[in-house]
Amino acid sequence: MLSALLLRKQGIEVQWITFETPFFSSEKALQASKTIGIPVIVRNITPIYLKMLINPRSGYGKHMNPCMDCHALMFNLAGDMMKEIGFDFLFSGEVLGQRPMSQTMNSLRYVEKQSGFDGYILRPLSAKNLPITIPEQQGLVNRDMLLDLSGRSRKPQIKLAKEFGVTTYPSPAGGCLLTDKGYASRLKDLFEHQETYSERELHLLKHGRHLRLDKATKIIVGRTQKDNESINQYYDGNMDTIIKVKTFPGPIVLMPNGGRNEMRILAASICTGYSKAPEITPVEVLVTTPEGNETVRVIGVPPAEIKHFLI
Ligand code: SF4
Repeated sequence: MLSALLLRKQGIEVQWITFETPFFSSEKALQASKTIGIPVIVRNITPIYLKMLINPRSGYGKHMNPCMDCHALMFNLAGDMMKEIGFDFLFSGEVLGQRPMSQTMNSLRYVEKQSGFDGYILRPLSAKNLPITIPEQQGLVNRDMLLDLSGRSRKPQIKLAKEFGVTTYPSPAGGCLLTDKGYASRLKDLFEHQETYSERELHLLKHGRHLRLDKATKIIVGRTQKDNESINQYYDGNMDTIIKVKTFPGPIVLMPNGGRNEMRILAASICTGYSKAPEITPVEVLVTTPEGNETVRVIGVPPAEIKHFLI
């Protein structure tokens, strides 16, 4: 927001672009756009992002976050749109030294080179600490009106926001699931066991407990009512199996992409173990497969006994 406002103060027309995948959303950018009236284009980039994410050139951060290649890809895609729409350069709100991995001098240079738009990426908040860019050389931007912020402190940004009269802004950190330990383990498991992944499978990784029963079979067990609703939302009746205890309250269990019959029985027992059904008592469980409905009678497996399946 601040970098856009700085440029707008110079009379430069600015437009934002924000990207969506199952790992991060455009929500904060849309809120910011409403707050200060900068137009924003939203693009879902899941397929191309996945190609990069499977084997990022620069590797991952602490979890499954490929921050450097993520930035490079985003600038690359934004650069293509810049040319398409007819803008002159790219800018971002990055601040030198603000993030340990992705905003060091070397990382910023890496991103520029890999983006395919070296020289065209302006960071208005830190510009005076960085090499001069092509739009500055061309006189499209007045370097004297740009800033020299660096480091982790956000105090100067908060002060600047006040000067611009911006009082509501999204929190700076968070929001990317690739930096979340639990999500990252589930994603890694998916990458290790499948060659292709649908967008809904990536969304499903956000909800419930995930248990790997064998190389080809994984189940997702709802922990809360909200989990159950989310699992239902991404359930595909043509591909998945869904399991629910018939006469006692309990979770929804989803087995993405069907599953073999013995695995369905095991999943039904696990589903029962997490339900309110009495222990060591056979109960009826409804198993809905892409081929139709079936009722099976199983005894629940206590959750303590299946911990080794948890991803
Ligand atoms: S935190 Fe996520 S969205 Fe941000 S740069 Fe890293 S991988 Fe990309």
